Amino acid sequence: MKRMQPVYRPPVRHRRWLPLLAALPLFGVMAAFGIAPDTITDPVPTQVVVEPVTLPEPQTTDVADADSFDFWTEERILRGDTLATLLDRIGVSAEEKARIVAAGRQSAALQRLASGRTVLARVTASGRLLLLRYLAGEDRLVTLNRVEERFEVEEAQVTLEARPIMRSGEIRSSLFGATDAADIPDSIASQMAEIFSGEIDFHRDLRRGDRFSVVYEAFYHNGNLVKTGRLLSAEFVNQGKTHRAVYFRDSNGRDGYFTPQGQSLKRAFLKSPIPFSRISSGFTSARFHPVLQQWRAHRGIDYAAPTGTPVRAVADAVVSFAGWQNGYGNIVILEHHKPYSSAYAHLSRFAAGIKKGRRVSQGDIIGYVGATGLATGPHLHYEFRVAGVQRDPQSLNLPIAFTLDGRERSRFLAESRPLVKRLDLLAGTNLASFD
Ligand SMILES: [Zn+2]
Repeated sequence: MKRMQPVYRPPVRHRRWLPLLAALPLFGVMAAFGIAPDTITDPVPTQVVVEPVTLPEPQTTDVADADSFDFWTEERILRGDTLATLLDRIGVSAEEKARIVAAGRQSAALQRLASGRTVLARVTASGRLLLLRYLAGEDRLVTLNRVEERFEVEEAQVTLEARPIMRSGEIRSSLFGATDAADIPDSIASQMAEIFSGEIDFHRDLRRGDRFSVVYEAFYHNGNLVKTGRLLSAEFVNQGKTHRAVYFRDSNGRDGYFTPQGQSLKRAFLKSPIPFSRISSGFTSARFHPVLQQWRAHRGIDYAAPTGTPVRAVADAVVSFAGWQNGYGNIVILEHHKPYSSAYAHLSRFAAGIKKGRRVSQGDIIGYVGATGLATGPHLHYEFRVAGVQRDPQSLNLPIAFTLDGRERSRFLAESRPLVKRLDLLAGTNLASFD
């Protein structure tokens, strides 16, 4: 299949501040989400960002001006991480890495990264690091600043201030193109894709003109973003259909996302076996994720993704096969509750412990994208089977959702009201930006 490389053009930004939103009470519901109410300070900034109305013409040249856009990315520190391994995951170019690591030697905190904490970075699409912020302790912030071609380390005592942030965007070319334009960090964009992953396959279903709004918590010091927190509520209008999610923790401490009516957004089956991320969505091309072939062509769905991209179980299952099959190459077949099964082919390798008889939960990594068997390039061939026959999962009405009831539902409805109200307002501002 012929693939075209579009040239990215930096989006024109239209920002609008809506003081009106500041007047709404946020305190009750924010307290329920674990943010100390006294740390919330009005006014609440909001902005509406619409990407340019004209889609850049796809061109066959390389992305020459990839440096012209940059974005916020946030990376969790894993056990054994060094500044170098972290910079790799953030996508910093090899050429820059050596200089950053050298500068990082001045900081004891950067030499001993604490696993579980996060690092916030501003990077360009071509892998230039503009800024890195690492909260080494509750009140100790380490900043790596770019000064022309050098990097400087700065450490400071900080007091974090939690703020709810509201943003909206409209998709013109890709989800990350739109969230970048709205200055929404990756971690929030990914959380949004994850929350709706039972309802929308972000690799296949996105359309130009889709709109979204998010309300999330973020932590600031002196007006500078230090880290983002949880997505509190979100709206996604996909192909004209509105999906909404509100975060809620019930009195037993179980938490999750619910529709404004109190129905859980957890589904028995995920729409896509590949988590939607900047990398899996092929962000450098700033286009929709290339799905190689639609279902009808060959009774499966092909997801193009780089070799090594994790593949997850779409539902709880028992592994019924993990090995080699002609044509499929390395394949995992999962048996879900009857009559459903799913198959994942052309894998480069299996995840540790994946073999016949093994139980897996929804979302568990079962293997990694590859090009084994009859595959012309790295991609995942995914089949969803009902009673052993391949079916298009898009065409099926799959089970199941659970619903909050009784007292929990009343509590949910009361506490979620301010967040739902915000989504209403953001939806309104979105529409207003069209004229
Ligand atoms: Zn295929």
